[in-house]
Amino acid sequence: MIPVNTPLLDGKEKAYLTECIESGWISSEGPFVRQFEEKVAERMERTYGIAVANGTAALEIAAKALGLGPGDEVIVPSFTIISPVQAITKLGAVPVLVDSDPHTWNMTAEGVSAKITNRTKGIIVVHIYGMPCDMEPLLQLAEVNGLWLLEDAAEMHGQQYKGRPCGSFGAISTLSFYPNKHITTGEGGMILTNNAVLADHCASLRNLCFAPERRFKHYELGWNYRMTNLQAAVGLAQMERLDYFVEKKRQMGTTYHEVFRHSPHIQIGLHETEYAQNIYWIYGVVLNKQYPHNAAFMQARLAEKGIDTRPFFYPMHLQPVFYSMPWYLSHDFPVATTLADRGFYIPSGLGLSTSDQLKVISTVQKVLDIHAHT
Ligand SMILES: *Cc1c(COP(=O)(O)O)cnc(C)c1O
Repeated sequence: MIPVNTPLLDGKEKAYLTECIESGWISSEGPFVRQFEEKVAERMERTYGIAVANGTAALEIAAKALGLGPGDEVIVPSFTIISPVQAITKLGAVPVLVDSDPHTWNMTAEGVSAKITNRTKGIIVVHIYGMPCDMEPLLQLAEVNGLWLLEDAAEMHGQQYKGRPCGSFGAISTLSFYPNKHITTGEGGMILTNNAVLADHCASLRNLCFAPERRFKHYELGWNYRMTNLQAAVGLAQMERLDYFVEKKRQMGTTYHEVFRHSPHIQIGLHETEYAQNIYWIYGVVLNKQYPHNAAFMQARLAEKGIDTRPFFYPMHLQPVFYSMPWYLSHDFPVATTLADRGFYIPSGLGLSTSDQLKVISTVQKVLDIHAHT
């Protein structure tokens, strides 16, 4: 089976991990945590980086630090992982969902604009699958309406929007370092901001909100969402190779693009727009409307031929966990619904070899052709 993702860990990861073990610094108190935070913040052109346990934790802390509470509305895409939406609901606030653009698969300023009310407090922008959202109109919308913008840049390490790094937009940005992201720490995440007050608050929320004057005394409830020195050691080694990783992903994506753009059966992610070149976090394909099968069927056929795949996100407006929530509205979001039904992604990790990629290409083409009329 050709796996859907294999990370590349052949830089200084092992050397830095050995340093942790030999020095005995394995907890969050170790020196790699600060070094990793500084390295990521510098790269994303932010003043502060706060390393945490995972990308979901980063979003939870960020939403809390931004002051979100009961009754507040936050605009967020339906087509996303649940993490940004649960960060909103866990604080008693209301996620207001928007559909995606059918070509970029991202939320748009027009979609957001239609959902702003006098209870709207902010926008969580989620960049999907390697192509950033069109940020300028979103930032402008936030500013004109006095809203904060939180950027979920979990899939965007090393990506730029009009020459500015993703992870640098809005009041706070968050990252994930899960093994399928461009940079991994096994599990891990980071909060990025230029605001010293927000940065302090996030650092406190990550560490149980210990009072500055007395350990084990608390004025607020937080979490233990700290990152270990072991994770940060891996992350630092990974960051040293970010440019190479981005280049490698772009090569992988371009190779797929050159073949699949000619396919009559599928829609593929945009290779470039006027504001960015895709960095192909994953290589996604969407079966055309006329194609006689859905993603689940084709994924099963590909698995039989040794190609591992994953489905696209399952949209928030179809989540059973939200049906009973008081804010839930049974709106249809047709683009998100179609993406979930007809989209999946093929092997696209950093460790994918050229020969395996060629095998994926020929198998996917063959399987798509075989089932086009049966
Ligand atoms: C991966 C991902 C997350 C969650 O990160 P974890 O580290 O797995 O918790 C959040 N948002 C987006 C857009 C992601 O792709």
